[in-house]
Amino acid sequence: TQSNSPITFTASLNITVEKLKQSPVKRNEETGVKRKRDAEDGRIPPLRFRKFHLSVSLLSEQTWCEKKVVYGFLKPQIRRKEKQRIELQTGTSIHLARELEVHDVVPINIQTHEDAVAISLVNMLHMIPSLDSGQCVREFPVFGIVEGVYLKGIIDELSYNQKGELVLKDLKTRKHDSLPGAAQALGHRFQVGLYKLLFDALVRGEVKKEHILEHLKLRASLALGTEVITHAANVGINVVTFGELLDAFLLTLSCSDLPCVDVLQLEYCHQGSSSFIGTVLVQFDESQLRAELRGFLEYWRGLREPKGVDIEEAWKCTSCPYEEICDWRKNRSQVPESLHTRKRVNM
Ligand code: SF4
Repeated sequence: TQSNSPITFTASLNITVEKLKQSPVKRNEETGVKRKRDAEDGRIPPLRFRKFHLSVSLLSEQTWCEKKVVYGFLKPQIRRKEKQRIELQTGTSIHLARELEVHDVVPINIQTHEDAVAISLVNMLHMIPSLDSGQCVREFPVFGIVEGVYLKGIIDELSYNQKGELVLKDLKTRKHDSLPGAAQALGHRFQVGLYKLLFDALVRGEVKKEHILEHLKLRASLALGTEVITHAANVGINVVTFGELLDAFLLTLSCSDLPCVDVLQLEYCHQGSSSFIGTVLVQFDESQLRAELRGFLEYWRGLREPKGVDIEEAWKCTSCPYEEICDWRKNRSQVPESLHTRKRVNM
């Protein structure tokens, strides 16, 4: 997506990175034509749309309908309209309000992709000691290699419960004042499961410097932008290059006593009234989660064509912005009308 609005990479520090999506590098990532040169001579083969990493939220959307995710790349103008509609319906304001409860927002101008990643690292460096000392942190970035693919995401909240367990919480805002149905809940569970995989791998020291540099095609020797250097210095990190910051981040992580996530929790709030709907605890089954992920990654690795929804879930198509153009739906003309009109569900 492309937007003039600021993007927030927040944690205990809360930094807003302005104009990130206007940078050529980011724009190319979104359109799937990024880093053509690297894709041709790099050691790590690109995924579909020439992507070198995937976001957790994108993979979660894939649990709803893979074909819909693909249309989002092929028809970005329709995806933009859909995103705006969802943002109106759901709770960006609730998320922001929660974020502002624990930190301020600082705008930082960036020049390169290394700067953008650096902002996330500085945020994490600022949050790790807070979390280490038992405090709650919000908007904690996570990343790493899972099943051979670089994934990244942002955890809504990490805190400790009364038993001293580390709780990973994801806030979901809903148009309807009720818990989600099974189809939506599936994606939510998948999302928090992936966050746990990524967070646990980070605190176990499984993420290496070369993973980040090679998968994201970042230059360790590149000097960071002036504002990024200043900001890092303000939180006690004196670095000049991206590689130096990465070293400082990995060293801090290895010296911390952060535990793995014990509890996965989904919290649902009603968008209209901001009232609490309910909390759902998620069971973590790593082998099942990885099996599901491998199935989704088969598409991204180009091993198979994208799939639309199963016939039993044809009702999803009635609320899909690609309904009119979807070849999967057209080829399913034998589906009984009762399945098409069963229910409207908002993602
Ligand atoms: Fe998926 Fe149905 Fe939308 Fe096609 S119309 S993209 S099958 S939800």
